[in-house]
Amino acid sequence: MSFASLGLHPELLNALADQSGFQHPYPIQKKVIPAILKGRDLLAIAKTGSGKTAAFVLPLLQLIRSQAPEARGTLRVLVLVPTRELAAQVEGVANRFARHLTPRVKTGAVFGGVAINPQMILLKGIELLVATPGRLLELVAKRSVQLSGVAALVLDEADRLYGDDFREELGQVLALLPQRRQNLMFSATFAAELEGLAASRLRDPLRVELGEEPSQPGLIAQDVYEVAAARKGPLLRFLIKDGGWKQVLVFTSSQRRADNVTKKLCDNGIAAATFHGGMSQGGRTAALAAFKTGELRVLVATDLAARGIDVPYLPHVVNYELPRSPTDYLHRIGRTGRAENPGVAVTLLAPEELQHFRVIEKRLGRRLPRIDSSEFDLSGC
Ligand code: ADP
Ligand code: MG
Repeated sequence: MSFASLGLHPELLNALADQSGFQHPYPIQKKVIPAILKGRDLLAIAKTGSGKTAAFVLPLLQLIRSQAPEARGTLRVLVLVPTRELAAQVEGVANRFARHLTPRVKTGAVFGGVAINPQMILLKGIELLVATPGRLLELVAKRSVQLSGVAALVLDEADRLYGDDFREELGQVLALLPQRRQNLMFSATFAAELEGLAASRLRDPLRVELGEEPSQPGLIAQDVYEVAAARKGPLLRFLIKDGGWKQVLVFTSSQRRADNVTKKLCDNGIAAATFHGGMSQGGRTAALAAFKTGELRVLVATDLAARGIDVPYLPHVVNYELPRSPTDYLHRIGRTGRAENPGVAVTLLAPEELQHFRVIEKRLGRRLPRIDSSEFDLSGC
């Protein structure tokens, strides 16, 4: 099956042909592109790295393109995401396709942590906007953005946006949108409350469930090293050096731990940087950019990097400490094994974390084999 058979416009097919790698639609794209083109609401659950971004970006660009000329140049599509970096990333995907259209569809991203004034100017004529909820509301308060013409709303990482941290802001944004609109919810993980929301908020929604990770361990190998907490640092450095790991994203449970782990890596001659919410936006952007270009071998992050971030071909993820929830575990390990590439997710498990890890394994539906690291000679690390 080809992208052409999904009903996409020739200009978008040209745009796809121009992107190396996009030869055939992925399963989620086959399912949802025709439905979105028909104007349907939907709730889509499909595992990390399965191509959800293009699944909504392509048909929504086409819907904008098919508007009458006099209706162009105003905000039609709003995509909400939970983090700043994800906003920039999703807009980047949209823009790579949008620039092949005539007239070109104007896309933009707004998010907090950077000056608001340039964003106020950028919003002029934007037709597809990717935003974090907080900054969007600030821009609404400044009357820089008009939401009354929004025809389609996308919630990317929908379960996160409906979680405690965003619920209130999301409610405020929803209240500003026209009642009649297309609603599209995407997530890699299933949350029971999403079902209820879909039933109450969506109009005859199409439900697409291609499974979260547990049913499809797929391409991500999950290695669990039993290790004393005090030996985690040396073990991490041993694995990176001895294993010849090209690149790895390391997750910690606190900003302080991330800083400490990074410092030790750098002291040992391994190019590493941190990525967490305690940093300036400039520092965050620079660290992630250097990691995406491969300049940095290791990025040490909090769960801020757990959702949505796409580092193509990233081979390794490490849980230096366990995430709070099984959902976060799935999102973390899903930073590797993307777009049909293989990946390895390593968990460093201290005895005191065992009980919590069992909760995660319960969600996975299986017990992961353990590797005993007590005999490893870590003296040089
Ligand atoms: P998700 O949001 O489902 O986690 P993304 O939309 O970030 O996944 O896509 C993951 C990766 O797969 C990206 O690098 C993207 O460019 C790539 N990708 C998406 N669709 C295709 C396709 N049809 N063919 C090849 N690569 C694709
Ligand atoms: Mg995504």
